[in-house]
Amino acid sequence: MHRIFGFRSFRPSQEEIVRALLAGRDVFAVMPTGGGKSLCYQLPAVLMPGAALVVSPLISLMKDQVDGARANGIRAAFLNSSLDATEQSAVLRALQSGELDLLYVAPERFALDHFRDLLLRSRISMAIIDEAHCISEWGHDFRPDYLALSSIPEVLPGIPVAAFTATATERVQHDIVRKLRLRDPFVLRASFDRPNLTYEVRFKEPGEAQLVSILKEFTGQSGIVYRTSRKSVNDTAAMLQKRGFRALPYHAGLDDRERRDNQEAFIRDEVDVIVATVAFGMGIDKSNVRFVIHADLPKSIESYYQETGRAGRDGEAARCILLFSQSDIPKVRFFIDAMTDEEERQRALDSLSKVVSFASATACRRRMLLDYFGETYPRDNCASCDVCLGLHELTDCTREAQMLLSAIVRTDSRFGAAHLIDILVGRKNQKIRDFGHDRLKVYGIGKEHDKKFWRRLIDDLIARKAVGRSEGLYPMLYLLESGARILRAEERVELVRITEKKSV
Ligand code: ADP
Ligand code: ZN
Repeated sequence: MHRIFGFRSFRPSQEEIVRALLAGRDVFAVMPTGGGKSLCYQLPAVLMPGAALVVSPLISLMKDQVDGARANGIRAAFLNSSLDATEQSAVLRALQSGELDLLYVAPERFALDHFRDLLLRSRISMAIIDEAHCISEWGHDFRPDYLALSSIPEVLPGIPVAAFTATATERVQHDIVRKLRLRDPFVLRASFDRPNLTYEVRFKEPGEAQLVSILKEFTGQSGIVYRTSRKSVNDTAAMLQKRGFRALPYHAGLDDRERRDNQEAFIRDEVDVIVATVAFGMGIDKSNVRFVIHADLPKSIESYYQETGRAGRDGEAARCILLFSQSDIPKVRFFIDAMTDEEERQRALDSLSKVVSFASATACRRRMLLDYFGETYPRDNCASCDVCLGLHELTDCTREAQMLLSAIVRTDSRFGAAHLIDILVGRKNQKIRDFGHDRLKVYGIGKEHDKKFWRRLIDDLIARKAVGRSEGLYPMLYLLESGARILRAEERVELVRITEKKSV
């Protein structure tokens, strides 16, 4: 380990996995991104006779891995569609004559008879399945190509098979073990806690000022701003450039050349900020990313964890800031509703509701994240999330909540947030006049607060299930049981007002 990789010592999970593989056992390992997975199989690959097959989903990832392994003197190669016929046959010859320790392959190879025949005629030490959750429909990144991997025990009988993933819930774990037909695998779940990351959720404000002021705190540091759409990536990158930030866009709609150049510029610290869709980051090992900002709602807790996980890989402090507004939800819903596969749609809805609870709740963010991955965080206060750091001011807003709830009741639960707010702040517009809402007792009683305050209060009441919101194009608000109790003064509302009063 020391001679090849130059590390002083193993991380605890690494040593266990290496020993299991050397003993010929199947392995199922859940390790967070940056947990040091490569060593777990590269070391046994060097020590065992024959070549280890590593199945990896991304061509770009393979090349980086091979370059990294070769830099450590490991005899590594990859086989995928980016190679021409001559290059491919050179790799195959090297495999057959036993000149390789590691061979990275794309999953679809296992569906090819001639590839399987070749494996039978070569000496293979073990099979490593990277991103193994791709084999599960329950995972967040199902790839049908991965199903071909269940033939491995037949094609390569008697060798250890190891599945690695960074994101497996219990259900996905069982699915992986079953589909890959792992035999009594050694199961390892490394901790997902990233102690050097600070998690913050802030209410997202419309306009560009909020993002700009956050980025100013990070002047001269590297970071990623994630946005959902290509258009918003372009717009945000252009806006930041105009304001003098060294920023570049990254998304799958850019041509290959520009994408690669922008990525390289970021990795080489020629720009500070990369504004990107989720297309950015897979397999990028930039160690000094100091912040990851989600300017839009991530699509699931897994993706949030993955994307924030790209910060602070050097172990130094880094911050993860999620800008959240309840008004982002309908935008995500729009895409989900367009999904044709009903099962896929349900899963997406489920992921969305979990990520919304994460952002809306007032519990320790770290605890919620670790809970999600089935891990119990041992302390009450993590001292590095917005909630534990007390960045929130707790204000008694029972009276205001009652105003809103009674506005809902007095308008027969037939209106949405915007109109209810107009009533409370006493706006005079056509809709108010048409419905005679300016004659309601609640008209204008909330004008001491601005619209933003009311929006936040509604978000919070929805998150704590005091108020429900109907489906559809014009969602209407209605009271739930806890809302009725608040109205009868049997329950109080302590509103978490996320303030910008201090920063971490
Ligand atoms: P993963 O593939 O799990 O995302 P890597 O294998 O790329 O992670 O490792 C992440 C980082 O941790 C790399 O920069 C690597 O050099 C470093 N690393 C891995 N194992 C050790 C170790 N035992 N001691 C010190 N650093 C390590
Ligand atoms: Zn915390």
